[in-house]
Amino acid sequence: MVLIIGGGISGLTAAYDLARAGVPFRLLEAQPRAGGLIETRDFAGCRLEAGPESFLSTKPAAVELARELGLGARLMGSNDHARVTYIWRGGRLIPMPRGLNLMVPTDLAALRESELLSESGKQAVLADLDWKPSAIPERSVAEFVTDHFGAEALDYLAEPLLAGVYGGDPEELSAVSVFPRFVELERTHGSLIRGLEQERRPAPAGSIFQSLRGGLSELIDALAARVGDRIIPQRADTVERTEAGFRVRAGGQWMEASRLILAVPAWASAALLTDLDPELSRLLCEIPYTPSLTLALVYRRERFDGATNGFGFLVPKRERDRIMAATWIGTKWDHRVPDDRVAIRVFFGGKGEEAILNEGDEALVAIARAELRKFMGVTAEPLDAMIGRWPRSMPQYTIGHAARVTEIEKRCEAIAGLRIIGNAYHGIGIPDSIRLARAAARGETERTPS
Ligand SMILES: Cc1cc2nc3c(=O)[nH]c(=O)nc-3n(C[C@H](O)[C@H](O)[C@H](O)COP(=O)(O)OP(=O)(O)OC[C@H]3O[C@@H](n4cnc5c(N)ncnc54)[C@H](O)[C@@H]3O)c2cc1C
Repeated sequence: MVLIIGGGISGLTAAYDLARAGVPFRLLEAQPRAGGLIETRDFAGCRLEAGPESFLSTKPAAVELARELGLGARLMGSNDHARVTYIWRGGRLIPMPRGLNLMVPTDLAALRESELLSESGKQAVLADLDWKPSAIPERSVAEFVTDHFGAEALDYLAEPLLAGVYGGDPEELSAVSVFPRFVELERTHGSLIRGLEQERRPAPAGSIFQSLRGGLSELIDALAARVGDRIIPQRADTVERTEAGFRVRAGGQWMEASRLILAVPAWASAALLTDLDPELSRLLCEIPYTPSLTLALVYRRERFDGATNGFGFLVPKRERDRIMAATWIGTKWDHRVPDDRVAIRVFFGGKGEEAILNEGDEALVAIARAELRKFMGVTAEPLDAMIGRWPRSMPQYTIGHAARVTEIEKRCEAIAGLRIIGNAYHGIGIPDSIRLARAAARGETERTPS
């Protein structure tokens, strides 16, 4: 029997594939609710995400899985006709230039017209065009971006864009682990602008941000329905090696398994593996995590006194006080916010921001309201506020990440029957988590005659 520990999208996807292949398995999930970080809630007449809100269609694993589960017709792109993201700079919200691929411009006319960067900042970005192919040893995201595009592009494009995704510090994040494709373009083309232009990958049909009409929990519910009562709502406390494989203690009972898939955060895998392989456990602990917190404020439209003409805004670290970003949910997505409501989701978190998790609900709402008054001029009183607290939720791909993961995988391979999956290793988003989970399940089905 295969035992999967963790019932987020990673564990559930692996379980679904094993179920389809007829491989016997059980899945242990510590919480009464499956889904992990993915949690859609009905709140104040809206359908809101407490964790992730979408997945990228440029990485097809999530879209493919949704289609396989019969959810193809439920897939829904963001409202790209309204796609403008603003950056707070010098006391106002300025639209990001059109045609950015993360911080790499693909529309130079839009860059030249943009008010976001100064003239010298734009010249520094265009200096990327002079780069010759180079193989440079691992460097930080901050060094990489500054080398190609200058300090202003780091501060006002790359840092705020990455803060929302990684909740991390560009000085510490590893360029090759965070954007391997750009580092490869540096090697093959030198200039990232030219590299993207020459690669000319076909744009995916529809929006790059995809969700499901009823929210991302539709994906979780569909997977959980396929897995059924093989989900055991118990926390795994201890893992031991036996002659036949492993034994795992959960809810005061021991369970035997010939193989084990750990689909929990790296720090949770580390805790489970301390006795089995202390060195593997130590390496897993070296992957740092930062906290995040989402807070959605719901307003009556008739009382709302701000503009939500776009997807939202990002606050660069240089200008940040408390919130990192805000999404104007009803503009970005259909089927989330009824016509008579406005919902704004703000993000807190990042390195060293653990204290935010301990703030009471009222204090959080007060902070968010003060910030929205500053950034958007909103003074209206919200009807209600929904909070998602996610301690130790964002794995950080810091310098040395790739080497650390190679070492983790080497030690993992030495323990026959053990696999470790999740978003701490080869991509932090939902599609990468699904891809890794399916590869692990494929490994199991190839081994097990069904
Ligand atoms: C605020 C936020 C916003 C995000 N936005 C996006 C986004 O827009 N797009 C995107 O692609 N990604 C986004 N992400 C990342 C995305 O949520 C993750 O990549 C993905 O959900 C990871 O899934 P997982 O199953 O690997 O881990 P998790 O969801 O963390 O699941 C792990 C599960 O293991 C369980 N568990 C832990 N320890 C044990 C134990 N000892 N025994 C049993 N069970 C245990 C936990 O309860 C949990 O259910 C976001 C993340 C956060 C926090």
